[in-house]
This record gives sequence, C-alpha cells and structure tokens, in this order.
Amino acid sequence: SLPRVAIVGRPNVGKSTLFNRLVGRKLALVDDTPGVTRDRREGEARLFDLRFTIVDTAGFEDADAASLAGRMRQQTDLAVGDACVALLVFDARAGITPLDKHFADWLRRRGTPLILVANKAEGRAGELGVAESYRLGLGDPIQISAEHGEGMADLFEALAPHI
Ligand code: GDP
Ligand code: MG
Repeated sequence: SLPRVAIVGRPNVGKSTLFNRLVGRKLALVDDTPGVTRDRREGEARLFDLRFTIVDTAGFEDADAASLAGRMRQQTDLAVGDACVALLVFDARAGITPLDKHFADWLRRRGTPLILVANKAEGRAGELGVAESYRLGLGDPIQISAEHGEGMADLFEALAPHI
C-alpha cells in the first residue's frame, strides 16, 4: 500500500482544494462557507513522480467556537493515524490565528512529522501571513496556491524525503 499523507489545519484554509489538486479530481467538496466538508476523504495522489494516499481532514467545521479545538484534535488524530507526514495548512492571507497556533503546538507535541504549508499565497496578499508563521516554530513554510497550482515543485521537494 502507498504511504499516507494527511492534510490538517483549521476550517477554510484550503485543505480540500489542495486535496483535489493532488488527487486530480474533485473528490472533496470545496465551498466558501466554512462547514462544507463533512467526511474524512482519502484519495490516491500524484505529485510529479511521487505517489501516496492523501487524507483530507474534516468533520469539525460545524463545531461551535467552544468545542472547535477539541473536535479538530479528535478528527486530526484519526486522519494522522499512520500517516508518515502531515501537511499543516494555514491561510497566508488571514495570517496565524490563535487556533492555528494552538493546533500547531498540539501537533508538535504529538510528534507527527510536519510540513508547514502557507496556502492562498498567490500574489502578494500572503506575505504578512508567511512572516507571522515563523512564530509557530516550524521553520520555513512552503508557499503554495492550491487553487492556482502554484508552489507544487516546492511541495514536492518538502514531501519527497518522507515518502
Ligand atoms: P477547507 O475548509 O480547509 O477544506 O478549505 P476549502 O478547500 O474548502 O477552501 C476554502 C475556501 O478557500 C474556498 O473558497 C476556496 O476556493 C478558497 N481557497 C482554497 N485554496 C485557495 C488558494 O490557493 N487561493 C485563494 N485565494 N483561495 C483559495
Ligand atoms: Mg474541507
């Protein structure tokens, strides 16, 4: 079976858009409204000559603010499971929110190998968010635009050593 890679992060950062791009089909539902992806989804991903199973996390978008962090941890635990690496996605246009920080700290303590991914980084609107992300202590983020397909070569280089 193929190595597993999990896509994690708070709602609306573009996880499902990235999932769809890597799978090459629209298997995951994408919507402007946080709360649309209801299930955990898996697909066979291709990135240049890498092949892996990609897991999209969801199922916590409908949580209220008080329970969101807990639901995210629960769903992510399931998705990360036996993944060899997790892509921790944040929205470079929105910057680092307290929930991103909380989640990054939790994942790091959990010991999951992480690649930090700055999505929505097309154009210059993501620069501030990228700068903010250094305070997560996860090093250089890989800057991508899942929607426009930018940064895929950098993502490949970051993923390849794990697969
Ligand atoms: P998820 O909740 O993390 O799965 O996020 P989605 O994949 O459903 O995307 C949430 C919203 O962000 C949708 O409106 C997407 O079209 C938008 N989005 C996703 N990727 C990008 C991107 O690279 N650039 C921009 N500008 N918007 C994006
Ligand atoms: Mg989604």
